Amino acid sequence: MCWTPSSSERLLTPAHGPGVCPRCLNLTDRPGLCRACTANQHHLAAMVPISYSVGGEWLHHLVIAYKRDADPFVPAAMGTLAALYNRFLTQHEECLAAAAGVSQFELVTTIPSAGPLRDLHHPLRRIVGELIEATRGRYARLLVRSDTPAIPRVFDPARYRATTALDGEAVLLIDDMWTSGASAQSAAAALLDAGAGCVAALVAARHLNRHWHANDSRLRRLAADGFDPGRCVLCSGGAASTARPAVPSGARRVSTTATGELAIRP
Ligand SMILES: [Zn+2]
Ligand SMILES: [Zn+2]
Repeated sequence: MCWTPSSSERLLTPAHGPGVCPRCLNLTDRPGLCRACTANQHHLAAMVPISYSVGGEWLHHLVIAYKRDADPFVPAAMGTLAALYNRFLTQHEECLAAAAGVSQFELVTTIPSAGPLRDLHHPLRRIVGELIEATRGRYARLLVRSDTPAIPRVFDPARYRATTALDGEAVLLIDDMWTSGASAQSAAAALLDAGAGCVAALVAARHLNRHWHANDSRLRRLAADGFDPGRCVLCSGGAASTARPAVPSGARRVSTTATGELAIRP
């Protein structure tokens, strides 16, 4: 498996429109929210995926491979994923901040893993807290798993416990994959309970099944448009944010003396 950033043309920028969940960009067979967003409570001020991730295809393999300890491709996969995050944040963090109604994110964090040891050494924490120039100065481990048993893909903020009290800060929550959104919405609820003023999420991969309904033809049409790293679903037109109103006048570019997509190496 090749993880070189030249594979970026395999990325698919989501687009709002009919049959697209306005909250999580899921492809649906009905107007309005998808079933998962209808079932989950909603606590994120905004969510943006870098790309759709189709089950069994390149990005799906990447977000699985970078977490496999014994896989010899882990360093390359981590470098590629870090580069994708860094490039996206450099160009589009202010799009997400505006969609969330804030001028900037003061803090950046990740969603805890199930096991405490795994969480301590999770590669996404290393990517966000060390490798990505755009986030490492703001990264904090704000959440840990609580002792509450968690049912997968079910909204439950009790599964997370805040490590510190917050004081109205806007928090950027970074995760690798969005499937139902239950983990991200639960983490957002826990952060708001701890005092965060606002929580928005960036995910690398918004998961889809190519074989569900008309997904294959819809994904082929998106692929035909090509991938432009200078556009995200929030700034490419037609955005239908379910977040609070944007504050474009206050938005400012955060960070970024970033060195570009090829510069990061684990
Ligand atoms: Zn949805
Ligand atoms: Zn954008």
